[in-house]
Amino acid sequence: MRENSGRFFVVSNRLPVSLVCENDRLSATAASGGLVTALNPVLRDRGGFWAGWPGDGGNAGARSVRQVLEPLSEERGYRLLPVMLSPEDVKDFYLGFSNSVLWPLFHDLQSRCSFSPSHWEGYLRANEKFASVVEKHARSEDFIWVNDYQLIPLGAMLQKRNPALSSSFFLHIPFPSVDIFMKMPKRKEILLFLAAYSFVCFQTARDRKNFLDCLRVFFPEMKASGRGHITKVTLREKTFLVGGLPISIDFKAFSRRGSSREVIARAREIRREIQGEKFILGIDRLDYSKGIPEKLRGFQRALELYPELRERMTLYQLVVPSRETVEEYKALKEEIELLVSRINGKYGTTRWVPVNWRYGSVSKEELAALYRAADMLLVTSLKDGMNLVSKEYCASKGRDTGVLILSEFAGAVLQLARGAVLVNPYDEDAVAASLLQGFSMEETEKRRRMNILRKSIARQNVFWWVDNFLRAASGKKLEDFPSREIPSLWPGVAEEEE
Ligand code: UDP
Repeated sequence: MRENSGRFFVVSNRLPVSLVCENDRLSATAASGGLVTALNPVLRDRGGFWAGWPGDGGNAGARSVRQVLEPLSEERGYRLLPVMLSPEDVKDFYLGFSNSVLWPLFHDLQSRCSFSPSHWEGYLRANEKFASVVEKHARSEDFIWVNDYQLIPLGAMLQKRNPALSSSFFLHIPFPSVDIFMKMPKRKEILLFLAAYSFVCFQTARDRKNFLDCLRVFFPEMKASGRGHITKVTLREKTFLVGGLPISIDFKAFSRRGSSREVIARAREIRREIQGEKFILGIDRLDYSKGIPEKLRGFQRALELYPELRERMTLYQLVVPSRETVEEYKALKEEIELLVSRINGKYGTTRWVPVNWRYGSVSKEELAALYRAADMLLVTSLKDGMNLVSKEYCASKGRDTGVLILSEFAGAVLQLARGAVLVNPYDEDAVAASLLQGFSMEETEKRRRMNILRKSIARQNVFWWVDNFLRAASGKKLEDFPSREIPSLWPGVAEEEE
């Protein structure tokens, strides 16, 4: 191991594996989601640390958690560091401030926020626990990469513990406009926590502008300079950088999988299984920000306005379980069930069921086959940091064409606007019209649009995203980091944590 070379040190709320405890036996399952999909290949390639909460199974005790994580670290080529959270932390930090304040507010859905002072206390308490784990293992030359809204205070806390530790931050969700951000309690504290990082990066130029506007309103003395992707900000005698870089996918991996013999065969089978000439696909986590009821209402409106589409166009909606213990999410699931049943009751015939849906997750291969088989992908997010599903759909298409119908409120729209059919998900008539447009689009037009989409996603892929992030944050490239090192734990640290 090169002694003085900095290593990757990724921190996120969840580890890329979840621990589950059943009948006193602890086991690990691989976690999914955009962040894991993006960063896992990088750490697998370069090695380093990934610190995060291992889930409820983590309550089994530090020793047994380590026994499960140790072989997984060896297998993955980077070290998994668990951050233990108490049930009270989970209530106040995770379900509380993170998911009842920051998540809804940053998705412009302030009516879904609920704030209690204990949420803020829990948010700070849990972030101190993350800081304590990172501080024990990190060296000043490491590249500490903090991810997402749950860990905004972490950088400042690390600096307080050890001024030599500087870190960079990426926000995976949107950053709201001033009008909405103003409504948040602890708004100045949140801005100052963000300003403590050496580099703060957002998904899009729009999010970055919103953040800079908020800084200007609450700290009029701040100074900003620079053009292009990166802005230099000086506030309270500290200078830091602010950027906007869209997260992406491993284009080649999706492209390869989508064109494998097994996936193509399965895609043909799916086409035979699903009735109707055209198959519309929806893939969303169970979350109100994804606009699933809006999608169903738009689909229903299309059947109402354009009778020629009946029996010819079928929607298959996969809803991936998420935050199942939260009441609001249970209510959303019931709303979806009710809407699907109404549409099928009203328009279904002996030959045709208008909406098929599944509540669960599928394997990578099945997902690729669904993408490959679908004539259209319908994304109706009310607000979305990026929406990787839209990029995966295009990457998986191979030589086939397809139509991407994309919400104007997904971060991906800034990159994919030229090839996608754009839609306002709040407007049922507009969703219906976009489905008609997709249904009747000429093959040459579909190909032209799909080529634009694929080219752009292939160029700005996940490695481009990582490279640009690293370059802006540290002036280094991915190759400058040591490859495939599994850092040893500091002597004595393992025992201390028992
Ligand atoms: N996904 C998954 N299992 C499934 C369906 C989807 O792991 O059964 C993945 C999908 O491939 C994508 C991620 O979940 O990478 C969803 O990312 P997106 O940015 O669209 O939304 P998020 O859930 O992160 O808000």
